[in-house]
Amino acid sequence: MTRSLCILGATGSIGKSTLDLVERDPERFQVVAVTAATNTEALADIARRTGARLAVVADQSRLPQLKELLAGTECRAEGGEAALAAASSDAELVIAAIVGCAGLRPVMAAVDAGKTIALANKEALVTAGELMTRAAQASGATILPVDSEHNAIFQCLAGARIEQVSRIILTASGGPFRTSTAEAMAAATPAQAVAHPNWSMGAKISVDSATLMNKGLELIEARYLFGLPSDRLEVLIHPQSVVHSLVEFVDGSVLAQLGAADMRIPIAFALAWPERMASPAERLDLAAIARLDFEQPDLQRFPALRLARQALEAGGAAPVVLNAANEVAVAGFLAGRLGFADIAALVEEALQRGDAPAPRTIDDVLEIDRTTRSHAEALMRESCH
Ligand code: NAD
Ligand code: MG
Repeated sequence: MTRSLCILGATGSIGKSTLDLVERDPERFQVVAVTAATNTEALADIARRTGARLAVVADQSRLPQLKELLAGTECRAEGGEAALAAASSDAELVIAAIVGCAGLRPVMAAVDAGKTIALANKEALVTAGELMTRAAQASGATILPVDSEHNAIFQCLAGARIEQVSRIILTASGGPFRTSTAEAMAAATPAQAVAHPNWSMGAKISVDSATLMNKGLELIEARYLFGLPSDRLEVLIHPQSVVHSLVEFVDGSVLAQLGAADMRIPIAFALAWPERMASPAERLDLAAIARLDFEQPDLQRFPALRLARQALEAGGAAPVVLNAANEVAVAGFLAGRLGFADIAALVEEALQRGDAPAPRTIDDVLEIDRTTRSHAEALMRESCH
C-alpha cells in the first residue's frame, strides 16, 4: 500500500535524507505536500521531482516566485503561516523536519488531526511537550521519534510498559569540542562549531551539538516522549556514535540500538513503521571499529547541559525560555555577533528572568517564545557594545 507523505522542512538536512529514501522506494510512498522557509528554487525542484500536489513557502513574500516556478505543473503553490499549518491535511504520515519553534504550529496541526508524525523537530516537543502529548492522546495521533537517540530508545522499548524501565541513557558524541580546553572553546568560530565529527546536519543542531545544548533539548524531548522523570534520564558521552542510546530495565537488562551514524536509519524506521524498509546506510563493521568508549559529560565546560536539566526540572515556561534564548543565541553566534561561550551565558540570563506562568495553550507557548526572543535580542545588543 502506498503511504501519502507531507514533508515539513523538505529542503533541510532531514528533508533531503527523507527524499533520498522515498525516491529509492517510489512504490511505497507518494509525496503529496512539501514545505520550506524561503528557498523557492529548491522547493519547486522537490515538488516537480516528487509530483507533490502542494508546495508551501513559509515566507509569504516569496509566493509569487514559487507560483512562477511551478507554473504548468499540477502542484498548487501557497505561502504563509496558515498554509504551512494546513500543509499536512491530505497526508497520512507527516515528516516534521522544520528546525526550531517555527515548527510548533504545523506539528500541532498534524497532532490535532490525528496523523502519524515522524518527529525530527525536537524544539516543538521541548516547548510544548505536555500540550502535544495530551493532544495526541485525545486525537489518536502517533508520534514516532526520528531523533536518533529517541528512535533508538523507541526501538529498545518495543512496546514495553514504562514501569519496567529503570533508566534511559542518551548517548552523545561530545561534539567537536569534546577534548578542547575552555579557552579554546571560548575562541571557537562558527566553522569549527558546525564541523561535527560524526554527523552531517543543519547549522543550528550542529552548534547545539557543540555546546551539548542538543543533548539537553533531547533530555526534555525524552521526558515527554517516554514519560520518565529527570532522575531516570542520563547522558553518556560516546565519541564513536555507534550506540545510539540505551534502556535499562528493572531486572538489570540493558538494551541498546547500534548502527552507522546515518539519519536515514531512524528516518527509514519511521517511514516504514510498523514494518521495516531497506536503507542504503553503511553496515556496521564492529571488528573494524574495534572499540567503543564511554565517559561522563563535563558540566563545567558544557554549561548548556546543566541549564537544560534545570529547565527540565523546573518545567512550566522554563523549557520554552531555554529554547527561545538558545535559538536567538545560536543565530547570533552563527552571524558573528556572539562568542561560543556567550551562547550558554545568554540562555542562563534569560532563564534567570523566568517569571512567565506555565503555558496552557499553544498561543501561550508562542507568546513566551516571542517575549524571550526580544529579551534575548536586547541582551545580545548590550553584550555587543
Ligand atoms: P535544516 O536547517 O537543514 O533544515 C530546516 C528545514 O526547516 C528547512 O527545510 C527550512 O526551510 C525549514 N525552516 C527553517 N525555518 C523555518 C521557518 N521559520 N518556517 C518554516 N520552515 C522553516 O535543519 P535539519 O538539520 O534538517 O534539522 C531539522 C530538525 O530535525 C531540527 O529540529 C533538528 O534538531 C532535528 N534533527 C536533525 C538531525 C540531522 O541530522 N539533521 C538529527 C536529529 C534531529
Ligand atoms: Mg539526536
